[in-house]
Amino acid sequence: MSNFIEDIINDDLASGRCNKIVTRFPPEPNGYLHIGHVKSICLNYYGTAVKYGGQFNLRFDDTNPAKEDDEFVRSIVDDVKWLGADTTRVLFASDYFDKMYECAVLLIKKGKAYVDDMSAEEVRLTRGTLTEPGKESKNRNRPIEESLKLFEDMKNGLVPDGALILRAKIDMASPNINMRDPVIYRVLHEEHHRQGNKWCIYPMYDFAHPIEDAVEGITHSICTLEFEDHRPLYDWIVRECEFENPPHQYEFARLSIERTIMSKRYLKKLVDTGAVDGWDDPRMPTIAGLRRRGYTPSSLIDFCEKIGVSKANSEVETGLLESCIRDELNTNAERAMAVLDPIKLVIVNRDDSYSEELDFEINPTAGDGKTRKITISNELYIERSDFEVVPPPKFKRLVPDGTVRLKGAYIIRAVGYETDESGKVTLVKAEIIEGTKSGEDNSGVKVKGVIHWVDAKSAVDIEARMYDYLLLDSEEKVDFSERMNHNSLKVIKAKAEKYLEDAPKLKSYQFLRQGYFCRDLKSDKPVFNLVVGLKDGYKK
Ligand code: ATP
Ligand code: MG
Repeated sequence: MSNFIEDIINDDLASGRCNKIVTRFPPEPNGYLHIGHVKSICLNYYGTAVKYGGQFNLRFDDTNPAKEDDEFVRSIVDDVKWLGADTTRVLFASDYFDKMYECAVLLIKKGKAYVDDMSAEEVRLTRGTLTEPGKESKNRNRPIEESLKLFEDMKNGLVPDGALILRAKIDMASPNINMRDPVIYRVLHEEHHRQGNKWCIYPMYDFAHPIEDAVEGITHSICTLEFEDHRPLYDWIVRECEFENPPHQYEFARLSIERTIMSKRYLKKLVDTGAVDGWDDPRMPTIAGLRRRGYTPSSLIDFCEKIGVSKANSEVETGLLESCIRDELNTNAERAMAVLDPIKLVIVNRDDSYSEELDFEINPTAGDGKTRKITISNELYIERSDFEVVPPPKFKRLVPDGTVRLKGAYIIRAVGYETDESGKVTLVKAEIIEGTKSGEDNSGVKVKGVIHWVDAKSAVDIEARMYDYLLLDSEEKVDFSERMNHNSLKVIKAKAEKYLEDAPKLKSYQFLRQGYFCRDLKSDKPVFNLVVGLKDGYKK
């Protein structure tokens, strides 16, 4: 089924409005990209430029010098590249400042723009309301020559911040408030991350964006729904600035995910206040955070395909995003064993010299039967919760005198246990039931459960970082800062197979019966981040 953007493109190609599709992704470099931006990149790149054999530009909307930073430029390029989108054309809106200035002068000369001395506050107060027209400024009919001179003064640094503005002269009584003589240039004595101190006037977004699109020959300028009311202004600017083959703007619903912060500004606050460990903290919904958490480009692209593109805002369940990486890792991830809450188990019918290599299936869902070696000795670790002296009903794991299969190894019978003064079990004693080796078992012994384990003699210590959502679940729309989940990270000292000691960074594994874990990108110690649990709570 095609989405509405494809329908528009098909019509435009059929009518000859354009013969090559050119799209752009226009981030402001004031933070790291988040999952909402992934939706936009997928739509502009995979869904449009690739699909129609067109072109995709990564263009920085760096027209506001106050908040921009080169670190953000670098991270954004890295993230877009990581997603697999084309980064051969990395462009900067600030490179078009000369062109924008020229367009502003053209508007003044045509009597379509004037210099005003209102403050931002006065502009707001005289803009009118949905039911009342705005009030015309006394400078609205300022002679063209005078506006040209003042605009030049603004450019030449003769005017302090906020003293003068340039406004488009459109219609103070327009039912669309965006058309009531919007500000298009302001004075700002601020250094720009690329232009240095060349400029002390900066264009407003609504003026700059259509010009950027027009200069680059963008055919379909796709943005989020909040800009729908700005489209008449977009069209006015490209028309009055006399661009040939003007670009068109189309709006789609922005992505919102439950319990997920989707604003660079607020994410920056989390970083700046130390609420998280940087922009790539695995709890962050940033691309850098998702990557470090263990998400892959293909899982995010899959997610964007599943949510589709529409014109109605709605909130997506977090479970859908999680199911995309879970499905992928279920197919691809190697299996391994780690014990997150270890308790020692001694095999009483094997002595200290016992050591055996066993075949462990790398990935049963791959169906290729490939195995690797694991070792077993007379001392193992099992999960504390897999042995119960007084088991709850339907408990299928180990109990005194009961049996269970050790995954990939033997069936064991618990023959004893030790406790501390408080009654807490400190050691389990068990015997291997002969003739029950996995794959060679014809003993006829039946067990109800299979548990994972690690060989205590070769085990390595790992750190497992267990994550929960950054935000508490809340029906009410309270501010993010009141919804912070202060228990979103739990660090666990675990025991794992030695094999995991050399796990490559960012490689994910299924820890049997526990979940999917990804070797952390930053730590040199064996640290594993929980990607997602095994259970799929999402109703497909
Ligand atoms: P933020 O508030 O997070 O900074 P933004 O829209 O101001 O978001 P930009 O850097 O201007 O961020 O966004 C670049 C592009 O990404 C824009 O075209 C914007 O429409 C798109 N985008 C941003 N957030 C979302 C979202 N949640 N869903 C879909 N597209 C988004
Ligand atoms: Mg923004």
